[in-house]
Amino acid sequence: MVETGLVDPHTHTVFLSWRDLTYLAEAGYEAVVTLAYTPYVPTHPASLEDHFTHLEAEVARLKALGLRAVIGMGLHPRCVKPEHASAQLEVVRKWLPKAQVLGEVGIENPDSNLEAEVLRAQLIMAKEADLTAVIHTPRNRKKGALKVIVKAIKESGIKPENVIVDHLTPEPALLNEVVEVGAWAGITIQPGKASVHDLEYLIEAAPDALNHVIVNSDAGRDPSNPLAVAEAYDALVRKGYVTEAYRLTSINPKEAIKPLST
Ligand SMILES: [Zn+2]
Repeated sequence: MVETGLVDPHTHTVFLSWRDLTYLAEAGYEAVVTLAYTPYVPTHPASLEDHFTHLEAEVARLKALGLRAVIGMGLHPRCVKPEHASAQLEVVRKWLPKAQVLGEVGIENPDSNLEAEVLRAQLIMAKEADLTAVIHTPRNRKKGALKVIVKAIKESGIKPENVIVDHLTPEPALLNEVVEVGAWAGITIQPGKASVHDLEYLIEAAPDALNHVIVNSDAGRDPSNPLAVAEAYDALVRKGYVTEAYRLTSINPKEAIKPLST
């Protein structure tokens, strides 16, 4: 039984319909973290400001259904326009006081010095604002990306417990690498990323890491399931993993996401 509601710590609700949000409310969600991401490279840094304004408006849209929105702002690596990177970072700096989370930020290409620098600069902003940071890892080359991310965490000085390293595959070695740094490990239940079956494997193979793992949907524009967290909870409970289900979908994300832990 979910005593306090479910949390989805990584979504992009600007791409979800009213009906999608209704399903979330009916399924017992309490809070949804909705992160910045545009599926294109903004032609001008000011375009980011419009996106952030759109995100702010999500608070009222979700509240109307009894859902708490936690808003993330930041510059996703796929949205970096090299000639505008400094100006884009200035937009993030200006808007971050209106956000509760830094994100989605991260690494798409582990060989890109610019992406590494953009990530480091934003983690410094999160540290200064005392915000949780949600960090994207790419579908391929996760190990390489992880190396760049761990370096950026260390160089920025952000507290690792304020960092979620997301979209990890449920390989115990990969998870342990993140857990050893002291950060949260995010598993995304989405076609091509991870499945509920992977969570079951993880519960058995890496029970020690479980206290540092959170589960999310990355629901948005691309193939995804807005109810992935609720369905994962139900599936795990049916298999007898009651405590683990509750921890992964409610307790842990509330500890990991600052505004939800206080
Ligand atoms: Zn995302």
